[in-house]
Amino acid sequence: MSLDGATKIETTCCIAGGGPAGMMLAFLLARAGIEVVVLEKHADFLRDFRGDTIHPSTLEIIYELGLIEEFLKRPHQEIREIAGQIGDEMIPLADLTHLPTHCKFLGFMPQWEFLDFLADEARNYPAFKLMMQTEVTDLIEAGNKVTGVKAKTPDGELEIQAELTVGCDGRKSIVRERAGLEVESWGAPIDVLWFRLSRKPTDPGQVLGRFVTEKIMVMLNRDEYWQCAFVIAKGAAEQIKQRGLEAFRADIASIAPFLKDRVAELQDWEPVKLLTVLVDHLRKWYCPGLLCIGDAAHAMSPVGGVGINLAIQDAVATANILARPLSQDYVSLSHLQRVQMRREFPTKVTQWGQVQVQERILKQVLGSRQRVQAPWFLRLFKKFPILRRIPARLIGIGVRPEHVRTPDVR
Ligand SMILES: Cc1cc2nc3c(=O)[nH]c(=O)nc-3n(C[C@H](O)[C@H](O)[C@H](O)COP(=O)(O)OP(=O)(O)OC[C@H]3O[C@@H](n4cnc5c(N)ncnc54)[C@H](O)[C@@H]3O)c2cc1C
Repeated sequence: MSLDGATKIETTCCIAGGGPAGMMLAFLLARAGIEVVVLEKHADFLRDFRGDTIHPSTLEIIYELGLIEEFLKRPHQEIREIAGQIGDEMIPLADLTHLPTHCKFLGFMPQWEFLDFLADEARNYPAFKLMMQTEVTDLIEAGNKVTGVKAKTPDGELEIQAELTVGCDGRKSIVRERAGLEVESWGAPIDVLWFRLSRKPTDPGQVLGRFVTEKIMVMLNRDEYWQCAFVIAKGAAEQIKQRGLEAFRADIASIAPFLKDRVAELQDWEPVKLLTVLVDHLRKWYCPGLLCIGDAAHAMSPVGGVGINLAIQDAVATANILARPLSQDYVSLSHLQRVQMRREFPTKVTQWGQVQVQERILKQVLGSRQRVQAPWFLRLFKKFPILRRIPARLIGIGVRPEHVRTPDVR
């Protein structure tokens, strides 16, 4: 307890945010015997507004950790082929069955299951501490070095002193803001309306993207219901609401006619959540005593559903590079710089790809009254199945996949 009444804790690594980046990093560090405290502002992981995709490269990391069998016992679906309905045509877009990974599929698992799994595994290590309902409010600095964070808990103020603070607090990161790290934005011409509709056994199988004139919807099969992402032009949410719920229901039915008998489940706008899409990255991911990774370092668009995978890859690279310096209680600027150098290239290439899809495909479909047709090169995917391996590799493995190099002290 300090004089100002705040409880004080000391640790080696303090992680702000228990999302995919924060939980994976915490698990890997605790597994390597390094004391780590994760601060998560929510009371649980039950938040329904983020992606569910667990990519083959993330599954490979779980395999390398020796946990794949346990992991796949959690409720999930396995998707081996990705298709899109473009206008009236069904186009097979990616075939994951040839990937050089142990799991040749994309896992769909609600994010809370995934985070819960990481937390459960991490609890096997005494060096791991997870504090829920603990919101980081500020950084603590000494000289020009970040030496920890201040946080708000249901029991009062908390101060955590750490050799290293890692901002894993997502795209609205308070850590990056308080550290004054400069953000470069690449913009995004879309937002997403997120809602669910019930699913019937007679519904068609998983078709991820549906593109029709002026409309795009992505639908995730969660057994009892469809999690729907209705893509809209940036800032158009108000206009859509003003047109009224009936018009919105008709839009949904025109994209996926089999939903016509249940669009009335949307009784008002309350269950329709607006998710603002951003694509940005920090010029510098670190300063003395502090590093940002995951969306806190680079907010990802939902395009390709790769944000979770990138956050995981960042966490693995961070643990690989920093576990040894952390075990010696000394992390220098050049260690932090190595993390950025390792992860910046894959991040920027992926974001560049997302921006191309947003600008050249999504924006065009949303802004054109012409009948949507599959471009010629996508038609080739129907004729030459081997081509489907290219997007499979880009989405499933991505650029510069990471591998677990940290020890297990157990
Ligand atoms: C609409 C939409 C759909 C998406 N769909 C997909 C998809 O299907 N697949 C995919 O891979 N990616 C998807 N993404 C991107 C993906 O959600 C992110 O890239 C990924 O979650 C980043 O992980 P993270 O751990 O860096 O951050 P986050 O997942 O944002 O986690 C940050 C964590 O920090 C906590 N936090 C925030 N502030 C504080 C604070 N002050 N103190 C303590 N805790 C704090 C939050 O509660 C949260 O738990 C989508 C994004 C959007 C916007």
